[in-house]
Amino acid sequence: MSLSDAELLGRGTDLIAPASPGAPYDLVFLDRDGTLNEHRPGYVDRPGDLILLPHAVAAVRAFNDAGARVVLVTNQRGIATGVLHEADLLAVQRELVRQLAAGGAHLDAVQLCPHEQATCACRKPAPGLLLTALNRAPWADPAHCVLFGDQDSDLRAARAAGVRGVRVGPAGLAVPSVRGRGSRAL
Ligand SMILES: [Mg+2]
Ligand SMILES: [Zn+2]
Repeated sequence: MSLSDAELLGRGTDLIAPASPGAPYDLVFLDRDGTLNEHRPGYVDRPGDLILLPHAVAAVRAFNDAGARVVLVTNQRGIATGVLHEADLLAVQRELVRQLAAGGAHLDAVQLCPHEQATCACRKPAPGLLLTALNRAPWADPAHCVLFGDQDSDLRAARAAGVRGVRVGPAGLAVPSVRGRGSRAL
């Protein structure tokens, strides 16, 4: 599957296809920087600067294969401040999807906050990115969703949306041990 440019920039509105019956989670929310790819000072604004963390591809693929839907939830305030240009962000997002696809992994949706602090309801730690995705997945139960992120703001956003949050370590997302529905990864 391929995501549209609008989706990659967090403006997608299509419904998210239901998770497979028996999937361990309905939606798996993944932070981007520090969770899937290495943090950089400032913003990742060139595709060549997107360095995936060691287990990211295998982890996303495991969620894909288990039938969960994977939703990227990322703050990119640099758009609001003008430090990050939308065309560059799009190129980086395309590179993320390309690197995942090279390893047989994919994202199902992207929710992205391009706003300045305290000007919106979606910049994490606000829960707006997760709530929007849940609106696009009316079949999903927040109690059967999970978020993986590297910062307090990720975990606070999850909590505010009624979703369990898991903090990843310095190596980022780990490959989950996904079993049946209700089992817990990591
Ligand atoms: Mg992060
Ligand atoms: Zn926002």
